[in-house]
Amino acid sequence: MDLSIFERRRYTQWETPIEYLANLTDLLGGPEIYLKHDDLLGLAGGGNKTRKLEFLVADALRQGADTLITCGAIQSNHCRLTLAAAKKEGLHAVLVLSEIIPGSYREDAVGNNFLYRLMNPMEIHVVSGTCDLNIAMLEHAEILLAKGYKPYIIPMGGSNTIGCLGYIACAKEIIVQSEKLGIDFTHVVTPTGSCGTHTGLLMGLRGSGVKTPVIGMSVNNPRDKHIRRIEKLIQHLNEELFRKRKIPITDDDIIVFDEYIGSGYSLPSEGLKEAVQLLARHEAILLDPVYTGKAMAGLIDLVRNGHFKKTDKVLFLHTGGSPALHHYPDYTL
Ligand SMILES: *Cc1c(COP(=O)(O)O)cnc(C)c1O
Repeated sequence: MDLSIFERRRYTQWETPIEYLANLTDLLGGPEIYLKHDDLLGLAGGGNKTRKLEFLVADALRQGADTLITCGAIQSNHCRLTLAAAKKEGLHAVLVLSEIIPGSYREDAVGNNFLYRLMNPMEIHVVSGTCDLNIAMLEHAEILLAKGYKPYIIPMGGSNTIGCLGYIACAKEIIVQSEKLGIDFTHVVTPTGSCGTHTGLLMGLRGSGVKTPVIGMSVNNPRDKHIRRIEKLIQHLNEELFRKRKIPITDDDIIVFDEYIGSGYSLPSEGLKEAVQLLARHEAILLDPVYTGKAMAGLIDLVRNGHFKKTDKVLFLHTGGSPALHHYPDYTL
């Protein structure tokens, strides 16, 4: 599977490290748990959207765009990183933020909101949680076009076919690292929200003939909805980008757990609190309160319930997001 035919910007100097979590492994009594530090990717604050943006921004530049429009929740890591990529490239950025919980947006909030203000996008529009964000972005694109700008819309989470290429590239990086380290990972665990990360990892591994199961821990939607979305992304990738060499994915390849969402997206759960505290206090690793904390809570629960063998080697993908810790201190202490 050759990604060199796709244009790509580079926002990270090196591969992200894989760290063995000896203390957590001991505490839980095995399997061996490893963590891939995608929280250390480039752009302001790092996180998984940086990989997707390498391909998305290259596409925007190829099309001659001068403004990136994207959307997300009010504390969106994806909006922060899209804004950061725009700044790096000398582009304008327009953010459409969805206020899922009415009245929860505050312009002077800390976390990602503070970083938006610091990096200073051209426009921020806050819309109600019931508003269709794709339509809202199209409306802003129309207005910008009429003013002479050349907007490029990046969908929620950067999860379209082009964005998924970022995690196909990550899967290849994992394969090379696993060979260098001499470790055969038996499972890969990732948080999953808009599904681009999960889909990219799965396609990238299978495209290289690697059969390692990829476990997605949903932070928002029920399992069925995620599976349908991942199937659709796979279909589009195969039809649009890999026509000549389709990557076969079977139904039982798509593994999603939806038991760890708690009361909803960006809302706290007991498991979240324990996971964030355990990782901070025993590994000095900062998880985030919306994605990685819940995914780690899921992994811990699966370990306790005997889902893995003691000899398994599980790779947890740290997708970033720790700037949001500052916004939600009471979720974690
Ligand atoms: C967006 C995000 C995810 C989810 O990735 P998807 O590709 O949208 O499924 C996970 N972790 C963090 C920190 C994120 O910001």
